[in-house]
Amino acid sequence: MDFVSPGKRSGEFRFKYSNNELALGYIPIPVATIVNGTGPTVLMIGGVHGDEFEGPVALLNFFHHIIPSQVHGRIIILPALNFPAVNVASRVSPWDDGNLNRAFPGDADGSPTEMIANLVETAIMPVCETVLDLHSGGKAAWFAPCSMAMQYDDAIISEKNLELAVVFGTELVWLMGDLNDNRSVNHGALRNNLPMISVELGGGGQITPEVLRVGEVGIRNFLQYLGVLDGEPQRRSHPPNYLRIKTSSQSIYASHRGLFEPNFTPGKNVTAGNVAGYIHHFEDISNPPTEIRFPVDGVAMARCHRGLVERGELLGMIGMEVDPPSKQ
Ligand SMILES: [Zn+2]
Repeated sequence: MDFVSPGKRSGEFRFKYSNNELALGYIPIPVATIVNGTGPTVLMIGGVHGDEFEGPVALLNFFHHIIPSQVHGRIIILPALNFPAVNVASRVSPWDDGNLNRAFPGDADGSPTEMIANLVETAIMPVCETVLDLHSGGKAAWFAPCSMAMQYDDAIISEKNLELAVVFGTELVWLMGDLNDNRSVNHGALRNNLPMISVELGGGGQITPEVLRVGEVGIRNFLQYLGVLDGEPQRRSHPPNYLRIKTSSQSIYASHRGLFEPNFTPGKNVTAGNVAGYIHHFEDISNPPTEIRFPVDGVAMARCHRGLVERGELLGMIGMEVDPPSKQ
């Protein structure tokens, strides 16, 4: 595929792989480019997890509607990056159980998921200036739309990440610490010295028009801010709400199996000590439900999307409100 000449085109990367289902074929990884004039190269990714549908659809809509003359530089789109996982609507790959966000920098001679990670980190990111990676809560959870800015020891990249997260336009901006898993897409970008944001867009194994719209506006804001797309980003009328996860207690887990009755809405403020929900003992009517309380004051970022939960499953995530990081 031609990644250089002006125009809009789509194709695929092909990974040779052989198992019982795919004896002599290849794994396709769909890719699209829009090239026009001079400007930076921007990489936009969806489908790192195969049950998160908002990002892939927002990217496909962008590709089909964009007119190349509106672009100044090059946009590379990987809308269904872990294709085997997207193909079966699964978080991880059915070929190797691989979680692509835990597979970087990958391995060119490794499993399918490792090969995909390696392609992105060693062949695609090195020709890019900036990265956008679209996620959601998948089938398991629902996230209030939230841009994530990784904050590293590197002050310059951290500040750029923060600017990109704010310009994307979500109400919530999650300031993620240096402790994020170094096998993530974000750390692949960091190893390539690239600014990058990830975004959580809803979830629940579905697409809602409201959240899709947040993603589509955000994609345009992001590209316009970088000068790759004509127009000015939509500016927010008020600053976003900056959140941090400071302690593990901000993630609420199920203490036992049962039916989860939530009592909160992602995106809304919650108060420490108030009831977050109940887990019901459907197998034992005499046993009253387990009461779950919020561990901290903050904003509910995510909620479990399952009715039947297992012990250890994430029921909710509470972000603590913080001031924006001061400019270095
Ligand atoms: Zn994800």
